[in-house]
Amino acid sequence: MRSYQIMRKDLYMIASVRQVYKENMMDQVDPFEVYNAFFGGSDGFFSGMGEPGGFNFNLRNNGSNDLDIWYELHLNFEESIFGGEREIMVSYLETCNDCGGTGAKTSSCVKSCTDCGGKGGSTKSKRTPFGVAIEVSTCSSCGGKGKIITDKCRRCSGCCKVKVKRSMRIIIPPGVADGFTKRIRGEGNVDKKSGFAGDLFVVLRIGAKQGIWRDGLNLYSKINVDYTEAILGTVVKVETVEGIKDLRIPCGIQPGDAVKLSRLGVPDVNKPSVRGDHHFFVNVLIPKDISSIPIFTRVARH
Ligand SMILES: [Zn+2]
Ligand SMILES: [Zn+2]
Repeated sequence: MRSYQIMRKDLYMIASVRQVYKENMMDQVDPFEVYNAFFGGSDGFFSGMGEPGGFNFNLRNNGSNDLDIWYELHLNFEESIFGGEREIMVSYLETCNDCGGTGAKTSSCVKSCTDCGGKGGSTKSKRTPFGVAIEVSTCSSCGGKGKIITDKCRRCSGCCKVKVKRSMRIIIPPGVADGFTKRIRGEGNVDKKSGFAGDLFVVLRIGAKQGIWRDGLNLYSKINVDYTEAILGTVVKVETVEGIKDLRIPCGIQPGDAVKLSRLGVPDVNKPSVRGDHHFFVNVLIPKDISSIPIFTRVARH
């Protein structure tokens, strides 16, 4: 999804450059100037080095989505029902302080790329039946940055960013379902140069629980009841998310019927005062060999 959006943005920009260039062809406009007008010149990558200007041909580095962090938090079944708090350790990227995000050991270790003349790439104009098209290509030597680092920063090894760990307290609301995503603004990766911080997305993954399954706000289980108890009615012990409870089985219950314990289901994540029920499907145990049952012994003999 992200790469699609970036690609669409790139195509749009290239199409726009083509259009403006086409409109200004008569005035012999430099395609770099047109390009610059759209892309805003340098991406600020080296702006701290006192060398303004230049182009960013490395189009795929522009997405601010890169600053977002996705974190999967695994919860057990009960935690998803009752909510709670969890402490998580998030690794995020921060602009390297030692080099100020340039990736170079010192400012003198940054040289203008000789292959592209510091422009980061080249443009080629071509006449087509639809007008003049500009082909933009990224310089392979400098990766579109227009600069070459001769000696890399020791701390970040030239990647401009360092990994930092931060512990965070996550509040889990009651009733969350698998895939529930919590967005925490400003807690993603940090780009100190641009002043932007991404967001942290915590995706909740809920573990299964043996014998209980969830559908919406309701919980379901299967229980076995002896045929005599099914006829006469009984009280059985059942497992719920709040521990073992008594479940009253009415007399004459039929196989497959359900009995419920009200408000022992899942709270509504948006309105915790609303809570579902726990339904128990009754399986009536009927013996296969009736000769062992006193009342049928006589019948079996005949
Ligand atoms: Zn560094
Ligand atoms: Zn270059």
